[in-house]
Amino acid sequence: MRRTLIAGNWKMYKTISEALELVNNLKRELVDQDTVDVVICPPYTALSEVSDILNGSNIGLGAQDLHWEEQGAFTGEISAAMLKDAGATFVIIGHSERRKYFFETDQSVNKKIIAAQSKNLTPIVCVGETLEEREENRTTQVVEKQLKQGLKNLNPESIEKLVIAYEPVWAIGTGRTATPGQAEEVHEFIRNWIKAEYSEELSSGLRILYGGSVKPSNIKELIGQPDIDGALVGGASLEKDSFAGIIRNVK
Ligand code: PEP
Repeated sequence: MRRTLIAGNWKMYKTISEALELVNNLKRELVDQDTVDVVICPPYTALSEVSDILNGSNIGLGAQDLHWEEQGAFTGEISAAMLKDAGATFVIIGHSERRKYFFETDQSVNKKIIAAQSKNLTPIVCVGETLEEREENRTTQVVEKQLKQGLKNLNPESIEKLVIAYEPVWAIGTGRTATPGQAEEVHEFIRNWIKAEYSEELSSGLRILYGGSVKPSNIKELIGQPDIDGALVGGASLEKDSFAGIIRNVK
């Protein structure tokens, strides 16, 4: 049985004091909920202090990216060990904004997954097509390539310990959500791909999140789909009411 996971991606929002305010409010709001796994991914600067607040709570902590090297002369980058040290246990990898603005590739995604898992961070690996690719009917082809190259040479133990997020690029931050049917179609494709490449057991245990303008009003329908196991939430994770509303409406 797959437990629902709702992860909030705060992107480049929230100073440390703003982050602490939101996280304190969320903690209070979600204190009694134990049916959904919840993770928040603040900016790097807030990780350590947010981690102190979350300690012992039912909310997990993730980062938004990492570098694949252990350490070195990579100005501006951050390693898996540093994220772990700051209290993170999850990390988003290959978000479409990283792919688009920072030229991230499926090859770097692959290296980042390996680096993250070497420090016991759970990768949330993002895949998804652009509007142009969808309109050219290339959605599954694009997602398959991202899976094939992003998960290249990963062993079953590694697949077992990661989460995939299907995020159609055209639905991120646009207010345009994939219909539950459109999302389910790709989620099913991803699950079947894992089944064919690995095993039925791995594919049926894999959590596949949907991301793209998820809000309290649309989560119910999305989560009602058989292969949608949660959500990666951007904009709506920045306010207590909308993020908690999503979590509440999952049930
Ligand atoms: C995201 O950043 O992963 C995302 C899905 O953003 P939004 O919910 O704002 O579309």
